[in-house]
Amino acid sequence: MNRYPILLLDADNTLFNFDAGNRRAFTAVCRACHLPDTDALFHAYEAVNAEMWGAFDRGEYSKDFIVVERFRLFLERCGLQADPVRCNAVHLDSLKTNTQLMPNALEVCRTLAQTHRLYIVTNAVAAVQKARLAASDIRPYITDAFISEDAGASKPSSAYFDYVFSRIPGITRENCLLIGDSPSSDLQGANNYGIPCCWYNPHGLARPDGLRIDYEIRDLLELLPIVNP
Ligand SMILES: [Mg+2]
Repeated sequence: MNRYPILLLDADNTLFNFDAGNRRAFTAVCRACHLPDTDALFHAYEAVNAEMWGAFDRGEYSKDFIVVERFRLFLERCGLQADPVRCNAVHLDSLKTNTQLMPNALEVCRTLAQTHRLYIVTNAVAAVQKARLAASDIRPYITDAFISEDAGASKPSSAYFDYVFSRIPGITRENCLLIGDSPSSDLQGANNYGIPCCWYNPHGLARPDGLRIDYEIRDLLELLPIVNP
């Protein structure tokens, strides 16, 4: 009995190793724009980046504005000289070629594609996510990908899941399972929309309060017996 024939998989840090790709992209920016490539500067960039995406999530700025503004602010705060437009272009180009997967992601997608329909549900820059997926080994196993930028809404909002549900034939709140690493976007989104969810928690973080978590796994391979009982 196939309990969840439709699987909604988060991309960054669930299927793709975003953390590794993100660090690599910062190195590419430093090389291209003649900045010192240090962990301290990377963390400073990360802080500004998180701040900017937070403002985007609250609807304060457009995506096109924040992707450049994050570098402008980072350079200003660190007293560095470079062109923020060029920094962002190099950064996004590097992310597009980051097809490094999380452990066992390829094997799990290949196996599950024989019995399930696999969809990607991701908050991301559409051009980056599409280029990366197209170049990735998991591409043949993914039926479709739903990117927040195209949806005009992002996880955890119900508007985002309305968009996804309107595009997946035969999906119901009972026959799908959302798998993701982020409590605030993936698990919260599934809770908001009333769909089952599986927390991919490879680092063994403490369980967040106030969220319904139907399944928790540390390795993607643990997904197999859950969806093919
Ligand atoms: Mg994620």
